[in-house]
Amino acid sequence: MALDLNDYIATYNDFPEKGIVFRDISPLLEDGDAYKQATDEIVQYARDKKVDMIVGPEARGFIVGCPVAYDLGIGFAPARKKGKLPGKTVKASYGLEYGKSSLYLHEGAIKPGQRVLVTDDLLATGGTIGATIELVEDLGGIVVGTAFLIELEELHGRDNIKGYDILSLLKY
Ligand code: IMP
Repeated sequence: MALDLNDYIATYNDFPEKGIVFRDISPLLEDGDAYKQATDEIVQYARDKKVDMIVGPEARGFIVGCPVAYDLGIGFAPARKKGKLPGKTVKASYGLEYGKSSLYLHEGAIKPGQRVLVTDDLLATGGTIGATIELVEDLGGIVVGTAFLIELEELHGRDNIKGYDILSLLKY
């Protein structure tokens, strides 16, 4: 029987700053059945979208995207923060729910025309995923879908990525 993945999300008030309600996926990751169920749902979505590459932003985008790439036998490219990638990169800047940042992708990470799924643990304002999409498109990739474990609906992240298909397993 399917698990209720809501039971595997912890909630912390005032983290990392006062007034922020932080949704933590640690319990889901720590439970093999829950992590597998969540991954399997995203694998099915990626299969339906005929994805041939996955890109996820540092660091929890890796946790969501890598097992999907492994299961499908396709590649994964990490979108990383400043100073982490050794080769030539493309850059995209964005505002976070708390703070500002930039993300980078290796220039050769995506081949033009590749069908890409972008993954992250959580969709809040949509800044992170928007920057990741920008990087993929900069390299000529086609973003055919985005997948998250959690969507914080009141932050309207969807409005930041209008026109892109979104799979979110849990909504708060
Ligand atoms: P956004 O850019 O505002 O959509 O924020 C999403 C990014 O911030 C993701 O990479 C998340 O890992 C992180 N994030 C924002 N809020 C939370 C939260 O409540 N729990 C876990 N991660 C969060």
